Parts: sequence; C-alpha cells; structure tokens
Amino acid sequence: MFDKILIANRGEIALRILRACRELGIRTVAVHSTADAEAMHVRLADESVCIGPPASRDSYLNVPAILTAATLSGADAIHPGYGFLSENASFAEAVEAHGLTFIGPTADHIRMMGDKITAKAAMTSLGVPLVPGSDGALPDLDTAREVAARVGYPVLIKAAAGGGGRGMKVAQAAEELEEAWRVARTEAKAAFGNDEVYLEKYLDKPRHIELQILADTHGEVVHFGERDCSLQRRHQKLLEEAGSPVLSAAERDRIGEVATSALKKLGYRNAGTLEFLYQDGQFAFIEMNTRLQVEHPVTEMVCNVDLVREQIRVAAGQKLGYGQKDIRFEGHAIECRINAEDPDTFMPTPGKVTVFHPPGGLGVRIDSALYAGYAVPPYYDSMVAKLIVHAPTRNEAIARMQRALEEFVITGIKTVIPLHQRILADEGFRRGDYTIHWLEQFVARGH
Ligand code: ADP
Repeated sequence: MFDKILIANRGEIALRILRACRELGIRTVAVHSTADAEAMHVRLADESVCIGPPASRDSYLNVPAILTAATLSGADAIHPGYGFLSENASFAEAVEAHGLTFIGPTADHIRMMGDKITAKAAMTSLGVPLVPGSDGALPDLDTAREVAARVGYPVLIKAAAGGGGRGMKVAQAAEELEEAWRVARTEAKAAFGNDEVYLEKYLDKPRHIELQILADTHGEVVHFGERDCSLQRRHQKLLEEAGSPVLSAAERDRIGEVATSALKKLGYRNAGTLEFLYQDGQFAFIEMNTRLQVEHPVTEMVCNVDLVREQIRVAAGQKLGYGQKDIRFEGHAIECRINAEDPDTFMPTPGKVTVFHPPGGLGVRIDSALYAGYAVPPYYDSMVAKLIVHAPTRNEAIARMQRALEEFVITGIKTVIPLHQRILADEGFRRGDYTIHWLEQFVARGH
C-alpha cells in the first residue's frame, strides 16, 4: 500500500480523497493555488504545497509544478480527482515516468476514450451498442449528408474531442446540416484545437443513464449499477439518482454484463463510467469517462462501497477480492449539486460564506469543503457542496432530501438550493417521468 498520496485537485473532491486516505492510514499532500491557501483540503492535509497563482492553467493544470511537489514531498502516488488533469493522458504518462503511480487507468485507455470517435470504434468492436451514426470522423459535408439521410433527421454533429457539451450542434432537417456542420467545427477548433467531427442520430426523448465500473489489475471487472443523470442544464448535471427510476434489475444486469465483458477484453483498470442514452428500452453508448465522477456518492450509498478506497487499492495492485455476485443494491440515493449560483439566472455568486449549517440525521451525507468565514473564489467551478441522501425507497429518499434541503443554511452567497426544492416538489419529477430535456423546460417555465 502507498505511504503518501498527492491529491492533484481542490474543493470537495480533494477532501473526499483525503478522507479515504486517512481511513487507509495513508499520508496526504495537498496542492493549492495562492487563492486556495485557506481552503479546507489544505487545512486538513498532512502537508501542502503552493503550486501557483489562481488561474487553473498556472496551478491545478501546471504539470511541472505538481510533479515537483510530488517528488519533493516524497509522495508515491497521485490521485487526480475529476476535472483538471484527471483525463489528461500525457499527465498520466509523466506521473509514471517520474516513478509514481497514477491512480487511474493507463494513459493509452485515457487517450482512446478521450477521443469519442476512437472510443465508439473500440466499444462497438467489443459488442457495446451505439447511437446510429457515422463510422468515425466525417471527411466532408457530402459524407455528412449521406449519413444523415441514412440514419434520418434530426441529427447531431459532435466534436471528436468534445466535452461539457461544446462543439455539439443539432440539424432538424437537411437544410440545417451545412450550418450545424460549420458551427460545430468552428466551436470544436476554438475549444479543443481539433475540428474533427462525427454524426449521430439525435434522440428526441432519451434518459442519460451511466454505469459505474471498477477493474483491478488481475482481470476482475465489476459494475456497481447505474446512475440516472438525465436532469441537466446546458449538458451539466444538476441532480442524480441511483438507481434509475425506469430501469429494472434485469435490464441493469443485461447492460452491466455487456459493459463489464467489454472492459475485461480491453484490459481496463481502475474506475470508469460508461455513459449511455436510454430510449424505448434501448441503450446506446455515447462516451466513457476514465475517472471518478462527481456523482459517484449515489452509487456508494446504494452499494455500500467506498469507490475512492477501491481506486487506491487497485492502483496499489491489490485484488478486488469480490465479484459481481457479491455486489448488492439497497434502497435509493439522490444527490443534489449545490452550486454557488443565482437559482434563477445561474450567474456565479462567489464571495464570503457567513453561516454554514449543513443538515444531518439518518441517511444524509454532505461532501463539501465549505465552512463559515470561507470566501468562495471566483476562479473555479461553482459547485460548492453535494448533498446526498439514502433511503429504502425513492419516495422516502425524496422526502429525506426535501427535509435536508430545508435544514441546509448557507448565507452570504446565493445557491441553487431553492431550485432543487422546486424540482423535488414537482409532480413530473416525483413520478420519475423525465428525459434529458426536462430540466431545461422546467427552468424555462419558471416555476
Ligand atoms: P460532452 O462530453 O460534451 O458532455 P456527451 O457526448 O457526453 O458530450 O453528451 C452530453 C449530453 O448531450 C448527453 O448527456 C445528452 O444529454 C446529450 N446528447 C449527446 N448525444 C446525443 C444524441 N445522439 N441525441 C440526443 N442527445 C444527445
């Protein structure tokens, strides 16, 4: 097992990783920008190293500074968390080149899945169903026209290097294709320096359902069931559930079997998530994330597993020590992402937190790096807390979440807590009857 882990991240996820390390008896090194000198992950770590000024590119994305901090502190592994360098294959390579362990998959698998075209090609060859569309990159507009005519409109032009919903454009009919093609490529070039695009049929009412996978380095691959992340605004998830309100245990077993056998053949290691669109009883793979995800706690609650601990154990070469049949799903979990944003305009609201009173009680979990007196810096992601509840049934989980949101007091900054309260009170949400378009429509209705 490792003696010391450097946590290359900030905020709640840095704290989440630190907690797992503590329980495993592993010492921790926090890294931070000058803006985060007073941050909770810095306060709680055994050691901390300042790696640069506030801007992420100069600190949390500063590979030489992070590797220097790891070497000087004598860390033997690096956990990248999510975001920042977590899906950067060159970083994973550089970590290993310095004789350290990267807590995640191999650089080759990160690279393969980071390009959605190679990811889809790999998955289809391993028997995973895809959204109908082009076989690989589109060489020109004429080919795009042919593929669109074959799969049928509406279609989506997507960037191979896409992320965060950028470089993605819908064409409702043939006359819109040229415009979608042009805009998607321009956006992709600007955002990712790569204008390669592909085409998918645009599904009109899918749910976003993803599967949590974990693999050791001895050939064991298991899944921890699904998360329903259909509630999104601008392709950003806001509330997640495990399990999905619409998936049966048999359907979960079926897709789980497809996914685990694919990753076994691939020789994948560590944690990963396969993202699918689910419509009319069919799963269609859209992408794979080769890292821990923000919403991993809902899975932890229903499976009674510590996924970060498991990531660290398998990175150290340990065997999982259990198989698929040992994994049980109990009850229902919901996570609300608490963003420091105006609940109506979604404008970020950085600033000083004056009161921080988190909820408690049975089945309530808070993952947050906030405290009273802390000033939320304006430089980073606006998510400041995750509120997770677990209960025997979905209805009880909803009641528990409503109770917990009522108890939650954060003053000094605005948050999206009132929006969550409106969602949880909505009949459509309570019936579990929603698609990936539901939240945008709900917000647009303004109630
Ligand atoms: P990104 O990596 O930019 O987040 P994804 O491929 O994961 O892009 O897609 C993000 C979201 O866009 C999905 O969760 C879904 O809401 C929507 N989406 C993606 N592909 C399709 C599709 N073929 N049809 C309908 N919606 C889609």
